[in-house]
Amino acid sequence: MKKIYKAHILFTKEKDRFEVYENGYVAVENGLVIGVSNNLSDFDSEGAELIDFGNRLLIPAMNDMHVHAPQVHNQGVAMDLELLPWLQNYTFPEESKYADVTYAERMYRRFLHTQWLFGTMRSVVFATVHTESTRCLMHLYQEAGMGALVGKVAMNRNCPEALREDVDAAIEGNEQLIREFSDPSPLTSHISPLVRPIITPRFVPSCTPELLKACGELAAKYQLPVQSHLSENISEIAWVAELEPESESYGDAYNRYGLFGQTPTIMAHCVWTHGKELELMKRNDVMVAHCPTSNFNLSSGLAPIRSLLDEGVKIGLGSDISGGHDLNMFRMLTYAIQVSKMHYQQDHSKAFLTLPEVFWIATKSAGSFFGKVGSFEPGYEFDALVIDDSVLYPDEYSLPHRLERFIYVGDDRQILHRFCRGVEIKEPKM
Ligand SMILES: [Zn+2]
Repeated sequence: MKKIYKAHILFTKEKDRFEVYENGYVAVENGLVIGVSNNLSDFDSEGAELIDFGNRLLIPAMNDMHVHAPQVHNQGVAMDLELLPWLQNYTFPEESKYADVTYAERMYRRFLHTQWLFGTMRSVVFATVHTESTRCLMHLYQEAGMGALVGKVAMNRNCPEALREDVDAAIEGNEQLIREFSDPSPLTSHISPLVRPIITPRFVPSCTPELLKACGELAAKYQLPVQSHLSENISEIAWVAELEPESESYGDAYNRYGLFGQTPTIMAHCVWTHGKELELMKRNDVMVAHCPTSNFNLSSGLAPIRSLLDEGVKIGLGSDISGGHDLNMFRMLTYAIQVSKMHYQQDHSKAFLTLPEVFWIATKSAGSFFGKVGSFEPGYEFDALVIDDSVLYPDEYSLPHRLERFIYVGDDRQILHRFCRGVEIKEPKM
């Protein structure tokens, strides 16, 4: 059934400005946007349901492009360590607990509920090595109606025994999930299933060449996307160079195993990506998941997002909990701007990022990893949030400033409705 929503509509078709429709209308049918207009008469409203959100804002929903769901219990803990000791002392012990599906379900429900609160309707997620609890997380996303690419993590070296899985078991576990979460019905075959597996080698240091090769083969065989970590931290890069001496760069180490753009690929961080790695990334159309809070907390560095954007690299934003501490993706927009301002302090030749730019990165640019997601242009999946900013003195501000204030000083309490693929998403059960 066709629905027409009326509200103050804002989105970013282009990266340098907001499209603003004061008292506008967006028409949606079968989960897809038909169009946006200031005039109801532009739509064939025969038989359509009109839903009036009054003085509220209607914007695209958020996408979290890099997040570790099993680290929800560690959120805001051990923020004084760098990457490698933090992994050994906090992350790996916590992830080991996910061998227990009951524990996993309790924590994953908590995680999903927080994502829902903050209006994150799509995610690219790391689970753990455990097939059962990864399946549990995928079922919870399906139950909630929220979109996710979920990765059963592949790792078999430089990690505790409890998180080590041999190559055959990793392939078998992945294939089980791939069979179970393939396209559910011909009716929806024009768009991908909302919840799908993504091939997920943790990072080069935790995967042997045999495992990396097996991951690349799985991605190719089932035409599945790939996610991992890349060039986050100086000592990590040096370690990869030792482990993969044949590779020209860290990115090339993935590329040699078919894990760098041979299928759609997203790499978290890329703080230190430059030169040959950058060229390869551009050539292979690899997306960057920029995780500003994680990069601050783990003292990884300042990712050069303005430069990557100017080079034409695709970018999205990630919370990366629990390296990052915040699941509120709106706040991530402000952090991304702040990182770029610190860059600008060092090099005035690179302008800092603006709000429309980071909004575009977080919505339309990130959303392209899922298909047509993150905009209200015709044909886009209707992933949207209704924002009630009445406590933020809206009458004193223009519509773009109302959105800016919500992003900087608002929180989940102002998010009144959440939609994913045209369906209103109710509060998930805890
Ligand atoms: Zn990560």
